Amino acid sequence: MAKNRVEIDETLAAEVMFASDHTCCICRREKRVQIHHIDENPSNNDFDNLAVTCLLCHSDAHSKGGFVRRYSAEEIRLYNRSWREIAESRLVLMKDMPVKESKKLETLELAREALLSIQLSCIVFRGSLVATGKVHAVDDEDGWTRIIRQLPVYTRSNYEDWQPVFVDSIETVLRDIEQIETLYGDVLPLSTRLLIVRSKRQLLGEVSGYQLIPKMLDGGHLDSDSAAKFFGFRVRGCMETMKSLEADLATTSNELTKSLVDDSGPDESHKA
Ligand SMILES: [Zn+2]
Ligand SMILES: [Zn+2]
Repeated sequence: MAKNRVEIDETLAAEVMFASDHTCCICRREKRVQIHHIDENPSNNDFDNLAVTCLLCHSDAHSKGGFVRRYSAEEIRLYNRSWREIAESRLVLMKDMPVKESKKLETLELAREALLSIQLSCIVFRGSLVATGKVHAVDDEDGWTRIIRQLPVYTRSNYEDWQPVFVDSIETVLRDIEQIETLYGDVLPLSTRLLIVRSKRQLLGEVSGYQLIPKMLDGGHLDSDSAAKFFGFRVRGCMETMKSLEADLATTSNELTKSLVDDSGPDESHKA
């Protein structure tokens, strides 16, 4: 595909800047900004392919490999969507909100930051799978499905190869989630907290199930066919859990503004 730069017209550029409150969608501080093409194709001026980034974050979006921090397209898409939602709710909520209720806006933003952190943790986990060399790079939202399709069969060496994923990487995700629960627990809707608690339990179950496989084989409690099946179930179960956690959090993020606006009390007569 030819990658000729197509100038972003002024109206579109203004819309993109407005949607991001003229602020970098990654660091969310810097107001000296540029427009970045998320898929790195400068002819794709689709609204959702354009992200407002500052100079520093922009260079991190383009640096490749090594030990520099690099934001993947998928991460930037997530940052962009989340930031546009925040900018939008600031507008929606501020319009109708008495000053004393501005607390709701802060709550909403905090909840969105928490959701984004968990979603990013899931993506980093997916990156750790790719690092094992056992699955190919997947850099879009359907990544989980494609990883599930690439899952290995059980052999002792596959088991060993996947061990770091199950032991270290999942534990990192669990630690991230716990930290987020501690920091943001109060501002997350009950349904989200339930989702998190259940996903955590599911992941812990997959991890301990996984670690039992060699013991059960050695102890003669499992024949090799069942071990292979068991291995597949655990790996798959883990991916499915992460996949639905990520998807459900994205849905929650969309519904947050609505729930907070609806929440503003029965005496509010001017509901949309
Ligand atoms: Zn930035
Ligand atoms: Zn760029």
